[in-house]
Amino acid sequence: MSREQLAAHLEFFAELGVDGVRRDAVWRAPGGTSIPSVPPPSPQPVPIFASPQEALAAIREDLGDCVRCKLHGLGRRQIVFGVGNPNADLMFVGEAPGADEDIQGEPFVGRAGQLLTKIIEAIGLRREDVYIANVLKCRPPNNRNPEPDEVQQCEPFLLRQIDSVKPKVIVALGKFGAQCLLKTNDPITRLRGREYKFRDAVLIPTYHPAYLLRTPSAKREVWEDMKRVRELIK
Ligand code: URA
Repeated sequence: MSREQLAAHLEFFAELGVDGVRRDAVWRAPGGTSIPSVPPPSPQPVPIFASPQEALAAIREDLGDCVRCKLHGLGRRQIVFGVGNPNADLMFVGEAPGADEDIQGEPFVGRAGQLLTKIIEAIGLRREDVYIANVLKCRPPNNRNPEPDEVQQCEPFLLRQIDSVKPKVIVALGKFGAQCLLKTNDPITRLRGREYKFRDAVLIPTYHPAYLLRTPSAKREVWEDMKRVRELIK
């Protein structure tokens, strides 16, 4: 490109209101006068108006047969993604799949899950009305606690699930769900009994149903929390 052509080119951009052209490194070829052609950013297939159902399907697809953390090699049978109504006002977040969930591929289907279903029904909803997911999508061996690197890899998928469902209320079941979402190490005993703003939702931490199986006296507090949930989703 000649000097004249370059000048005309820059004048054209100046007329369009594109300022800073002359100073922008992109327009200055190293050691020459030619303008490098900048390839446009490759289009990303991001469906802006995807329904929650489509958005969840896309997240599941991105997860694939995940090998991002070590759990894939530690005996998990399958990924346990999430279940329920993609348009739910209420979402439950647990810790990680246990043995039953690992076999059936659905969160909260074992004994703790059956209790969770009763808790849901106690506030006048059906299990199919809510959305249920875990922080981890794979079963930790022998139901050990999730480890920080596993949470770090898996958490973005949970956050995308939350952003797709856009629940009004999130109930974090037990310490791991609550600590992970609220980014705190506070014990569940301190976290519960209060409400937190989380993205566009109200987050209510409560005791995990597995804890309730061991400590039935704590059901009273969970019932208090669930009454508040019922009020919030009314
Ligand atoms: N406990 C959890 O936290 N999640 C499940 O899915 C089952 C048990």
